[in-house]
Amino acid sequence: MIVLGTVQDGGYPHIGCKKTCCEKAWKRTDKQYIVSLALVDSQSRKWWLFEATPDIKEQLQYFKTITNGRYNYLPDGIFITHAHIGHYTGLMQLGREALGAKAVTVYSMPVLKNYFETNGPWSQLVKLQNISVYALQNGKHVIPASGISVTPYIVPHRDEYSETVGFKITTNTTSYLFIPDIDKWQKWDKQIIDEVKAVDFAFIDATFYNEAELPGKRMEEVPHPFVSETMQLFTNEADYVKSKIHFIHINHTNPLLWRKPAEDSVRKQGFNIAKQGNTYK
Ligand SMILES: [Zn+2]
Ligand SMILES: [Zn+2]
Ligand SMILES: [Zn+2]
Repeated sequence: MIVLGTVQDGGYPHIGCKKTCCEKAWKRTDKQYIVSLALVDSQSRKWWLFEATPDIKEQLQYFKTITNGRYNYLPDGIFITHAHIGHYTGLMQLGREALGAKAVTVYSMPVLKNYFETNGPWSQLVKLQNISVYALQNGKHVIPASGISVTPYIVPHRDEYSETVGFKITTNTTSYLFIPDIDKWQKWDKQIIDEVKAVDFAFIDATFYNEAELPGKRMEEVPHPFVSETMQLFTNEADYVKSKIHFIHINHTNPLLWRKPAEDSVRKQGFNIAKQGNTYK
């Protein structure tokens, strides 16, 4: 599994941000991309993309560079968690105005599939067969290639246009949990501690570090488990359990993205932060 991006939907730097968090990022040339993973099967030379972000153009090029062009430019399938802008709008690059892709398999839940089919510009991608949408079912795995299994699980989130899922991904050797967006762990019908224990790597929601990041009401409008809350929840767990957690989907306001001491402190407490370009196996 290669991490192709770790940032929240709005990207980094963030539109309109003049604060310390984005100051350096505006000047940088090595960009931090929006949350995305690449699952790579070196035997079959196939690969699958998790999320089609607004940074997809750069991320496909980035993937090609770091894998030395060993794989097809386009993935063998794209898995999408939900219809918030950071997670699916990159699909537009596959359409007639840009790449003109041929029947790229997009794995999505049924409401999201219907959303694609009935709303422009996505419906044009379906009509022109740039993408071919496969409907996933909650808790039912698909096998995109021999030895690889992907299972979607519904998670509580602001579902304006679609359901939201997290994915459990299993290969012959390694298992992963990917939950970039969830309202709060307590609202989920599964126990996050058990789910983390059941995998080797857990890439989970780290949108905000704590409750102080957004002014007043805005924080209530966009609930997420704070990094501080998640760490608290796991405080009595063994070090090897904590170390499975790799925080991802980090908002520009979260110091984990731009303040080394914040990152060091999280690591010192036994947790990890997903890093763009790193391979996890
Ligand atoms: Zn998101
Ligand atoms: Zn910022
Ligand atoms: Zn979301």
